[in-house]
Order: sequence, then structure tokens, then C-alpha cells
Amino acid sequence: MTPPRQTRAQRLAMRLARDVVRDLAVEHGGGVRPVQLRRTDLDTGQIEQVLVPCGHTLASVCPSCAERAKTLRAAQCREGWHLDTEPAITPDDPDDEQRMWIEQRAKTQQRRDHADATGRDTTELDELAGDLDEQIARSGVRGHVLPARPARRHRSTRRRQDTPDLPRRPIEPRTIGKTYTTPDGKTFRPSMFITLTCDSYGAVTGDGTPADPSTYDYQRAARDALHFAALFGRFIQNLRRFLGYDIQYFAAVEPQRRVAPHVHTAVRGTLSRTELRQVLAATYHQVWWPRADIVRFGEGNLPVWHEASGCYVDPATGEFLPTRDQALDAIGPDDVPLHVARFGPKFDAQGVLAGSRGAARCIGYLTKYLTKHIGACHQPTTDAQHAHAERLADALRYELCSPTCANWLRYGIQPKNPRDGLRPGRCKGQAHRRECLGYAGRRVLVSRKWSGKTLADHRADRKAWLLATLGITEPDPSRYTWEPVTHGDSDHMPPARRMLHVVADRITWQQALDEARRRADGHSPPDLSATGTAA
Ligand SMILES: [Zn+2]
Ligand SMILES: [Zn+2]
Repeated sequence: MTPPRQTRAQRLAMRLARDVVRDLAVEHGGGVRPVQLRRTDLDTGQIEQVLVPCGHTLASVCPSCAERAKTLRAAQCREGWHLDTEPAITPDDPDDEQRMWIEQRAKTQQRRDHADATGRDTTELDELAGDLDEQIARSGVRGHVLPARPARRHRSTRRRQDTPDLPRRPIEPRTIGKTYTTPDGKTFRPSMFITLTCDSYGAVTGDGTPADPSTYDYQRAARDALHFAALFGRFIQNLRRFLGYDIQYFAAVEPQRRVAPHVHTAVRGTLSRTELRQVLAATYHQVWWPRADIVRFGEGNLPVWHEASGCYVDPATGEFLPTRDQALDAIGPDDVPLHVARFGPKFDAQGVLAGSRGAARCIGYLTKYLTKHIGACHQPTTDAQHAHAERLADALRYELCSPTCANWLRYGIQPKNPRDGLRPGRCKGQAHRRECLGYAGRRVLVSRKWSGKTLADHRADRKAWLLATLGITEPDPSRYTWEPVTHGDSDHMPPARRMLHVVADRITWQQALDEARRRADGHSPPDLSATGTAA
């Protein structure tokens, strides 16, 4: 039978089949960017295609993976916050999965370097290497296979005279806070939830926009955001020296309505508000970078790339611009730092007891925005909010995001590791991107001895729980070898086909889990028509 004729408008109003598949996958908790692996059973020689989740943390990229990542972070936060025994930190031997990813990474590097040496395009192999790096990190290996940046140059650490000194205690190797005992013999070990904010850049109204945009200090706002992670690091260092033990933290960086970063921090152990105020007053981060106040080369007058020497030259005189090291050496004893970042005087601190309602609420705050990009936490809706975000983006455009920033050229200095094509105002550094609001650091900052487990350990805990619930014993992992399946392979599954498999896999898996739960509860399966889980 031929289907009835439809108008173009009617056809356009119909959902696209692929979108429905994607939505179904999300509804069932499946990832929308699965990675295809080829699994070979060494005993039987049988080859199977396995789709593993991408593991992305942003809901805009993969809602299911982002939600799982958030749940995992909440578990990590909860487990570490009120530990009453010192976590044991001994790195495990790499497991087969970790070994497999690193072997793949090594092969990719070799192919990439070979391609590079023979003058071929390395873009695709670089992308593959990037993906593999993500998988390596996800599998629970610390650090990177290649150094991200070479050793840091020694910088001046002159103390500021305008800042109170902090009493310093030697840091004991313990990470557990004090225990308190009530007169009737009950002991408890409280911990803290602390929120630190940036300073004021000018009065703001209820919607987070400046009362007077012309006097709002956008430059300081931009620089504080750029160096926020370093400032937080300084705060923790001071806190440890002041309290005299290796205090541990789980922190989440988020924007406030005025689009300045603030940080929610769960710390193990307590301190008084007075002590906290003291530590904050003594905490600052000095940015000892070459001065960048005077624009030496504006649009139409930009330094020129000199291929033979691999650096930039003055367009008028042809002289080499000073290198970053030369500019750093030129900083004299009477110079001031490019920027001094400090927290604002406003902070929030509360004691939190293990397992309390307060603890659950704070963990909610800490993980609330983790699935969103920092710039998407507060979407501007009014004209004033749009204009405010615009002005901050403008201020960030010519700020220096890092030693390699293209904007150094504007101030007459070679960026670190210079290359052709750098243009001030078009730096590719993440911090300049609108959605970063100047903060390009990690959203979750967790100290090493927080829960004594890596995220991969927490993930493994969850998996073990699931397998136990389902009554499945995992086959011996040494029975299999794993390989990523790439584009040119004959068994490569195109994305649309992968999605169909994800939907089918998730439905089977969920039914098995529901069934197992019902068995565990001692209930017989209810009438299927009443469960309403059909899509
Ligand atoms: Zn995913
Ligand atoms: Zn930059």
C-alpha cells in the first residue's frame, strides 16, 4: 500500500529518525558518542565489537556520560570528606586496559612522527593521539605520556609588604582533622564547606550587571579570572602551613552571576572564621610576567614572522623582538608584578558533619554545574547581561593567557615557542573564549589524598556494585585483547549504526538490572503494562 501523500511542511514537521534514536539512547542512559573497540577472545579467537562510552563531562556533548561523571564526582566528594583514617596511597600496577591504551598511544606517536618526518599531514593522527590521551586518563593513569610543558623558569618570589605575615607551622604528614569529644563522651570530626569569591570590581545590581559599567574594573576582573587557579593553589599552600597539617580538599570552580569565578571547597577538618580570615588576608598570587602596558604593535603594524630564525621581527626596523626570557631578565628590583590576584573579603564558611543533610546539600552545590561549560552556568538573558558579558570578553581579548599567548606580540615580546601565523587578539588559548570567562583551568580540583582513590577507582567501585547486583562474575581480563577500531578498518561501524546498538544494549542492560533489583527486594516482577517504561 502506498503511504498517503504529504506536503513538504508535514514532512518537515516529522522528527528525524536519527534524532529519535539519539534521544532514546539518552533516555536509557546511553552515550551518544560511543567509542568502538574490537575485542578478541584469546581462548576462542572470537572477535566482538564493543561500544564503550566516550566519558565526556559536558552535557552539551554527551548528556549520559556527563551525568555519570557528575554522579561519580559526588561519590568521590562524599567518600573523602569525612575520612577518619589516613588514605593509603600506593599506585597500583597498570591493568590490561591501561596497558592497551598506552600501547596504542605509543604506536600512534610513532606513526605520527613518521608522517611528520616525511612531510605528511599529521592532523588526523594528532586527533587520535588526543582521544587516546583522554582514554588513558579515564582508565586511571595519573599524569600524561608526554610532558605538557617543560620545567618552569625560576621566578622572583619577593614578599609583599602590604600583606600580613602568616604564622608558619611545619606540616605534619597527617590529612585527618581534629576530633572533638562532647562532655557525655560522644566524639565527632567536623569538616568545612568554604566558598571564596573574587574581590569587587564595582557595585553590581541584582542581575549581576554593573551599576556603572564605565567604572567597573574589567581589566582586573579579567586578570583575576586568568590567574584564579594559581591563587587557589596559593590559598591551599598557606592553609597547610598555617594549620600545620596536609589539609585535603575537593573544590569546584564556578561563575557567579557577575560572571567572576568563585570556588566552593569541601575541606577535611575545621578552622575558625577568624583563622580563615587571617589566611585569606595573607594570600595573594603575584604574576611576575614582563610588563604589558604599552601597545607597541597595533593592527596594521604587526611584527613579522622571520622563517629562517623562527622568530618575529619589528616590521619597521627588522630587529628581532626580545624573547620572553630576555624580557623576564629585564625585570628589575624596582618593578612591580604584572598583576596581583587576591580573593575578596567576602567568604562563606560552615561546619559540616559526616552524613548530615547539610553534607548532602553541599555536595549538591559542589556538583551542580559540573555538566555545564563555565560560560553556560548563567546564560545572559537581558540586554544588560549581554552587554556585561561582551565587555568582559573584550577585556580578555588582548590579555595574556599564558607565556605562549599571541598577544605578547602586541607588547613587543616574542611569545614562548613562537610560530608563524600568531595574531594578537586572535590567540587560540581557551581563556580568551567567550564561554570560558577567562578561566581555562579544571572545574574540579581535588587534592591527592582526598579519598585515596582515583576517579577510575570510584568508577571501578560502581562497576563492581553493578556486577554484584546483576550476579555476574567478570571473565578473566587477560583472556582478551582490545584494539580501537578506526575509520579505514573494514569492521568500522558508522555513528548511526553505533547509536542503534547503544539503544539496544541499554535496553537489555536496564531490563536485567530492574529484574535483579526486584529479585533483591523479594518482589515478583509487576505487571509490565503498569511500569510504563516502554519508550
Ligand atoms: Zn558519552
Ligand atoms: Zn592567549
